[in-house]
Amino acid sequence: MSSSTVLGYPRIGPNRELKRALESYWDGRTTRRDLEEEGARLRAATWGRLAGLGLGELPSNTFSFYDQVLDTAVLLGAVPERYLAADDPYFAMARGTDGLAPLRMTKWFDTNYHYIVPEIGPKTVFTLDAAKPLAEVREARALGHETRPVVVGPVTFLSLSGALERLEDVLGPYEELLAALAREEVAWVQLDEPALVTDLTPAQLDAVRAAYSRLGAAPDRPKILVASYFGDLGPALPALAATPVEGIGLDLVRGSVPELALDGKTVFAGVVSGRDVWRTDPGRALEKLRGVRADRIVVSTSCSLQHVPYDVAAEDGLEPALVARLAFAEQKVAEVVELARLLADGAAVPFDEAPVAAASVSQEARPARSPYPVRAAAQAGHLNLPPLPTTTIGSFPQTGELRAARAGVVAGALAEDDYEKLVEREIEHAIQVQEDLGLDVLVHGEPERNDMVQYFAEHLDGFAVTKNGWVQSYGSRCTRPPIIHGDVRRPAPITVRWSTYAQSLTDRPVKGMLTGPVTIVAWSFDRDDLPQRDVVFQVADAIAEEVRDLEAAGLSVIQVDEPALRELLPLRAAEQPAYLEWAVAAYRRATSVVADRTQIHTHLCYSDADQILAAIDGLDADVTTIESARSGRRILDAVSGYSRGLGPGVYDIHSPRVPSADEVEERLAATLKVLPGDRVWVNPDCGLKTRTYAQVEASLGNVVEAARRLRATL
Ligand code: GLN
Ligand code: ZN
Repeated sequence: MSSSTVLGYPRIGPNRELKRALESYWDGRTTRRDLEEEGARLRAATWGRLAGLGLGELPSNTFSFYDQVLDTAVLLGAVPERYLAADDPYFAMARGTDGLAPLRMTKWFDTNYHYIVPEIGPKTVFTLDAAKPLAEVREARALGHETRPVVVGPVTFLSLSGALERLEDVLGPYEELLAALAREEVAWVQLDEPALVTDLTPAQLDAVRAAYSRLGAAPDRPKILVASYFGDLGPALPALAATPVEGIGLDLVRGSVPELALDGKTVFAGVVSGRDVWRTDPGRALEKLRGVRADRIVVSTSCSLQHVPYDVAAEDGLEPALVARLAFAEQKVAEVVELARLLADGAAVPFDEAPVAAASVSQEARPARSPYPVRAAAQAGHLNLPPLPTTTIGSFPQTGELRAARAGVVAGALAEDDYEKLVEREIEHAIQVQEDLGLDVLVHGEPERNDMVQYFAEHLDGFAVTKNGWVQSYGSRCTRPPIIHGDVRRPAPITVRWSTYAQSLTDRPVKGMLTGPVTIVAWSFDRDDLPQRDVVFQVADAIAEEVRDLEAAGLSVIQVDEPALRELLPLRAAEQPAYLEWAVAAYRRATSVVADRTQIHTHLCYSDADQILAAIDGLDADVTTIESARSGRRILDAVSGYSRGLGPGVYDIHSPRVPSADEVEERLAATLKVLPGDRVWVNPDCGLKTRTYAQVEASLGNVVEAARRLRATL
């Protein structure tokens, strides 16, 4: 007997209905009740669709108004006191409210989804509030669907909250939840434990045993599925297998079929990937399914499908040959259903003739650049910059007019020529503003880019972009990751025309502005027939051509952003050094093609750059700008003595607040205590795309003023 299920499903809505409902509620245009109604509509549509596709077992409580980890904090009563008085404590935690900062947000394992980090202290009192999962079970039942509620499990919840020592205290509410679900006659509950695929400390492994022995021994409870995903369970598998839980979820796409016989267990075998957009080879999937030794098998996805778009059928602009290879959430559900049928029938299915692509990565070695001091001297002579040079990270405010114009070009309502004139006017404006402010290294402002990755994907061979392939990044925010489906090549220069236009308008140096190879791949759906390293190297070669052309066109400063360098870091520590080595090599491959006098900048925008400082150093950029305004001292301590140019951001661009010149001066003075004056750059934390010109001009005016004051003291 085999059945079929998915570990979770997208919830933003096939046409981003949830995004719109959230944003209109936040803007006060609709009520909480309107929002609830939209949520109910989306859940009903999802269950209806899953049942319609023939899925055997449906999940519930995979819907969320913001984030499943935040929902779990609410479920356990872990709402910090200070939010309780807010009009809407849930969204106050997620987004902040007047005078209250939101809870921290960070990346969900190695995905591009971001979760809210619960705030659990020694005094946090856990009390069960099971309203949401119970309501969803009842709501589904009223529609004729029996469901398996999904909740983040205790070990993952506490590990992500940095509070594993509270395990004993949290298990009570989990037991009460099990009892409440049993009273509701729920057959199965799914406890998500992705943390179990990371390197577990002995304390975490003990916590796995303790938690599931105790929950398994609860007298009244549904059957428990402990769902792991994003990799192999390793030592957590025998630990779990020894507990009384009935079900174990395994990621058989990233992980492998375990040797261990799981007697007495139901294995939820994740053979359809929730992390990519490719069709599953049924022959290979069946071979894995038949290799699992367990009492019963439920064919499943490797993880929740929340990380892929809804439906390939919503795309009408893709090549038919590509469409034939694609599977989004809907198609993946159909695959799961079909595999369960084939498995039950004992059908013999041959493997696809999947051509394992030959990596067409040029092996041509690149000579390393000269040592930094040699380059620095050449650049100083060529660029003639003052000490403490001022610059920005690349983007200037993106006006509504620009976004509307881009939509107009796509809709055929605006001629390409007119759009390009508009982009040129934006560049003229950005350059004028920067000259008036007295900045030293200017940028063209990136007005031609919808997004720092999609823009390059649209101009490189081997990438496809979708019209509706939205994936939730956090809350109401979605991205449309490009799809890498073939060898990457640059058919023609991409940014050269805009950068040269900007340079033609000023005597000051303009920075050419590119996205790095790791970031382009990290924020796209990758191929499944080439190692990721090879794909990144292909992109690096394409970017290197752009770097060469920018230099030849007269740009003396070129920035290659790599904000996602840390994002592809493998979850297991043993795999991290090899990754960092090729990631850094790819960056150097993209940038080491210029003369000594051409200055290479890079930008990384997260506050814990200190964790991968060695890798950042390995990039060998002449100047690195990093976020620091929100992390302050820690990052400064970490970078003290850094040997090349460094620009720790002097103010936080995420807030509309304008920093005073005094405040910027103070920050700069702190930087100058740990770095020599001839290495320090003065810049904001990140790009200015989301700010207004009024904010930008006021803020940058104060930045330039602070730099001038300090120059006088050097
Ligand atoms: N150059 C980009 C910008 O300024 C960098 C964005 C980023 O770091 N995410 O917008
Ligand atoms: Zn940034």
